[in-house]
Amino acid sequence: MSLPDWVLDLLVCPQCRQKVQLNGTGTGLICEPCGLLYEIKDDIPVMLPDKAQKIPAALCPASQ
Ligand SMILES: [Zn+2]
Repeated sequence: MSLPDWVLDLLVCPQCRQKVQLNGTGTGLICEPCGLLYEIKDDIPVMLPDKAQKIPAALCPASQ
């Protein structure tokens, strides 16, 4: 799935208030500063740090 650009513009990480970006498969939203992956469930992004997965820095697009 994919989210429209205007939705992505509205979505920020609840922890650091930085914009998040879709991951490569469109199943989650990545916050690079936090190294967190927010899952997208039923087309709804779950913007909860408690529910987010930690991702290794190596997987962040900006660090490649
Ligand atoms: Zn963040």
